[in-house]
Amino acid sequence: MKAARLHTQGADFIIEDLPRPRPGPGEVLIKIAGAGVCHSDLHIKRGDVPAIRLPQTLGHENAGWIEEFGPGADSHGFEIGDAVVVFGGWGCGNCRFCLGGREQLCDTFLWGGIGPAGGYAEYLVVPSVRVLVPTGGVDPVMAATLTDAALTPYSAVTKTLSRLVPGSSALSIGVGGLGQYGIQFLKLLTPARVIAVDTDPAKRELALTLGADVVIDPRSDDAEQQIKELTGGQGADAVIDFVGVDSTMALGAASVGKQGIFVLVGLAGGSVPYSFFGVAQEASLTTSNWGSRNELAEVLALAQRGVLVSHVEEYPLTAINDVFDRLERGLVAGRAVLIP
Ligand code: NAD
Ligand code: ZN
Repeated sequence: MKAARLHTQGADFIIEDLPRPRPGPGEVLIKIAGAGVCHSDLHIKRGDVPAIRLPQTLGHENAGWIEEFGPGADSHGFEIGDAVVVFGGWGCGNCRFCLGGREQLCDTFLWGGIGPAGGYAEYLVVPSVRVLVPTGGVDPVMAATLTDAALTPYSAVTKTLSRLVPGSSALSIGVGGLGQYGIQFLKLLTPARVIAVDTDPAKRELALTLGADVVIDPRSDDAEQQIKELTGGQGADAVIDFVGVDSTMALGAASVGKQGIFVLVGLAGGSVPYSFFGVAQEASLTTSNWGSRNELAEVLALAQRGVLVSHVEEYPLTAINDVFDRLERGLVAGRAVLIP
């Protein structure tokens, strides 16, 4: 099968011919319909985040069709040919995080596309039917983006719900692959006024079409002041940072109000001082790491109702290096999806 593998951080992907994988006991072989190109893979490719075992087929945002069940697998009602999305945060299945339904927090970190081989290929082996969710009629190429670009913001927004009561405000920083869905979940799940921030005017335009109430250019001198005014001097009740550089974290920490919450999603490596008098009283700070299998089913339920808008650019898998270049230059509107 065709697969795009990364051999060295800092280098391009190489398209290779690899043997088609065989699913082992309990495993399932998926024929890939589409694999979303996450900025996290760009961090890996560039070497911004700790090295993973190379060479590796990346791609942790996958959807496709069931091709083959491994020997002895209980199909739990799934059939060959079923269209499915793949929950990618695979763990050991037995620790307290896995058993509590937060498998993506397992220490084993067996995430498909980061530990085992991922979906920048024609086929993908998944560990069990438990990581599959039926697409339920959602277009499989679009559905691929739901497994991370939508699931991660969904999980981040659920962490803010207790704060986002009527009359509240939410600040959403970064309107890329993840941010496009973050704005929509804030509008769908909460009554908050949504303020979106992006350095790129085209992304700010996109934010307005997705339901943001106001957009702000973080490079304008009075960005912080504008947020203060928009929130009646109180600051935002929730901030979600989908970028995670020093400047976005500084803006977020300065903008979060009393008893508010700052949720860091972006992996760009930034940091911010967190001290008693440095942040609003009783403001919380947390990271948010992907989402759970059950949350993915909830995201699919929203997509099946037709209430999610997905901005997706489709490319052949062989264009992978050009697509990563586009992502690096900030030219992707929404999410790019590679089709083998
Ligand atoms: P993306 O490249 O699609 O989008 C990034 C957006 O941020 C772009 O619209 C860009 O214009 C904007 N931006 C860049 N610098 C900015 C700044 N200083 N201020 C405001 N806006 C700025 O990226 P993505 O795929 O949406 O991923 C976003 C981040 O989230 C990445 O760091 C990625 O690794 C991370 N991520 C985290 C998780 C998690 O579980 N925590 C999951 C997936 C992705
Ligand atoms: Zn990702």
